[in-house]
Amino acid sequence: MTNLHRDSAKYRRAVLIGFAALSASQLAHAYAYIQTCSGDPVMKDSGPLSETRNACSLNPNHPPSLDSYFRAITAWNNISPLAVTASWVRDIGDCRIEFGDWANEIALVDRATIGGMNGLTTYNHVNICIGSAGDYGETDTRVANDMNFSVPSETHFLTRDKTTVGAGRMTIVHEIGHQLGLAHANGFNVMNEGNGRPLGGDDASPPTPMADESAGLNSIYGGWALTNLVASAQAWVGSGMVSDNRATAQTIMCKSQLLNVFFTVVNQGNLKITFNQRIFLSLDSVPNPSPSRSFTIANWVGGWVNPRASGSWNVNFGIPASIPAGTYFLFHRIDYDSAITENNENDNTVIQRSSIVLQNC
Ligand SMILES: [Zn+2]
Repeated sequence: MTNLHRDSAKYRRAVLIGFAALSASQLAHAYAYIQTCSGDPVMKDSGPLSETRNACSLNPNHPPSLDSYFRAITAWNNISPLAVTASWVRDIGDCRIEFGDWANEIALVDRATIGGMNGLTTYNHVNICIGSAGDYGETDTRVANDMNFSVPSETHFLTRDKTTVGAGRMTIVHEIGHQLGLAHANGFNVMNEGNGRPLGGDDASPPTPMADESAGLNSIYGGWALTNLVASAQAWVGSGMVSDNRATAQTIMCKSQLLNVFFTVVNQGNLKITFNQRIFLSLDSVPNPSPSRSFTIANWVGGWVNPRASGSWNVNFGIPASIPAGTYFLFHRIDYDSAITENNENDNTVIQRSSIVLQNC
């Protein structure tokens, strides 16, 4: 096995000799919080942040957008020191979104009503000085109803383009970040302004807040204990840009060639974590543990990521001769023996490419 060195300060040369430990590039935190005029955070000073869904736009008649709402709440609740909860619709048939009713509402609306934007979140106490930092009282979110709310593929980052698969899901996640008090910061995160927002590896691939968001919440609300690693098929490539893993095309290769894999581990938690990882090929899109269906390319131990940081690796792997020729899906799994007890155990395996044709040539 050899490794590919990227000529960038963002990438530390990976060391991969046999199954030696890998060290990843560790990204600096990128977060910001919304401020009062005195620079204090605009925040909700006690939980839960209860999200009241608008009955006219987030209802069972629109399953993808309703699912987006529930999954976004779950994703934030997984990492937030402040509980984030779904709230019952208060008045069935009430299509209004009201500021001043003390309900934190989420609704889908016509784009023209929010100035052509994908999403808009409003609250009070922004750039005004009423007392000190603290509860904003109420926040409301409007998301354009012409977006794509389908489940996105793990292998691609999401853009601001409303037609991108999952763009609507990401917009709801992003706007709830604003509700929690986070402002825009360009990094490997969901609060960036649109330089590509990465996905994390959950079974159903919902967008999830990343390490930067965890660091931002820590700065606003103080420390809390959280252990969770997330695999991602994307990586930070500098200048606030997120890259996909060039996985869109079918890869046809000989077993003697090197396979380039570009992958990321996000540590949402507050502890430096050392973990093992596996790169493997599977004949199935959902890995089947049978040794006749899944084949390990490499295992290693000793990878680590700092608290509330991300690490990216870009590595060329040799293919073990014992792997039969065939057409495969490529996967990256972290903590492959489930030795680490995590807040979410369903976000450790990510598909990296959907079609690798391995040939005996
Ligand atoms: Zn925003």
